[in-house]
Amino acid sequence: MFTIKKTICVKIFEPTKIKERLLGDILTISGNLSRFYVNEMESLGTSNKAIVHKETYTKVKCTYPEFPTGLIQTIRDKSIETYKSYKALIKKSKKATLPQFTNPVVRYDCRTFTLYKSENSFEYFVSLSTPKGRVRLPIQFGSFQLNILNGLSDKSLKFCTAELKFSKRLKHYILNITYEYEVEETTTSNVCGIDLGLINYAVFAVPGQINFFKGSKSNQKRKHYAELRRKLGKKKLLKKIKSIGSKEQRYMKDVNHKISGNIVKFAKNQKAIIQMEKLTDIRERINYTKKLNKQLHNWNFRQLQIFIEYKANAEGIPVLYIDPRNTSRKCHKCGHIEKNNRPRQNYFHCVKCGFTSNADYNAARNIAETF
Ligand SMILES: [Zn+2]
Repeated sequence: MFTIKKTICVKIFEPTKIKERLLGDILTISGNLSRFYVNEMESLGTSNKAIVHKETYTKVKCTYPEFPTGLIQTIRDKSIETYKSYKALIKKSKKATLPQFTNPVVRYDCRTFTLYKSENSFEYFVSLSTPKGRVRLPIQFGSFQLNILNGLSDKSLKFCTAELKFSKRLKHYILNITYEYEVEETTTSNVCGIDLGLINYAVFAVPGQINFFKGSKSNQKRKHYAELRRKLGKKKLLKKIKSIGSKEQRYMKDVNHKISGNIVKFAKNQKAIIQMEKLTDIRERINYTKKLNKQLHNWNFRQLQIFIEYKANAEGIPVLYIDPRNTSRKCHKCGHIEKNNRPRQNYFHCVKCGFTSNADYNAARNIAETF
């Protein structure tokens, strides 16, 4: 069984003036409280939860006697998280200012919010804790979101948290609702092996079928980015270099999404589980040729694996990791291991049994067959 966690963003549908004011008040108080907690932590010199609680509880309860305790707790915890990341930045001697909470958020959990469907229709409602007791609000799912939710069995579907905030862009109160559901695990003896590398980013194979994700186009693109950065470096245009860096990150992420989506679709069609190499060793295994620019070495394979695992589990497909030793040297026909089995980057020729194949295919088959 896999537990899949997802977040959807929904609009609170046309609240009355009174309810709108109430939501506004909750967010204002949340902002005030968060700033108060952060300042307290600054003067206490600690972000220890027990100490922060002890030092602030009475004061907060006196200032906001009607404010729900459950919300005070989540605001305090979120302030602690925010403060900790601020301190981490300072420690790395990066520029950071004390968090201001100009667009405050309130996190509701299962004690302070409930989501339910009204009878005989697809209307959904939330009930939220407020200083005036529980308030019921209609929410609006998009048709895409509704299709997803209606497709999940009610039994395993659980709504965990909801973050209330005001979207300045939409000019609406919105909720980011996190939900969980369970997916039955596929049982099968088929294994799809995935070989990751730089010439082919991913080769995924089941017996008799192989698919390549060639790296050439992306490598070209990244070479271009590297070149651009080098030129800008000479001119000392640091801001521009940074912006190219994040552009490249976005590009890599897009490609990784595309590759992982295709791999999982393939494994699903083949009714196969997925087997990959433990990443720590991939870098050692890949033989970099001088032709491959240094800049190209940092393809984010770990991100790709995380995407594959997440998407596969959502389909009930288990993902296993294996020790990658010898996957590229071993002959998948006879099992003979020798460096000379791979005379060229993309060519495999077993010196013992004469088996020949694309080297990545051979590696992907070995990955699939290792237990
Ligand atoms: Zn052989």
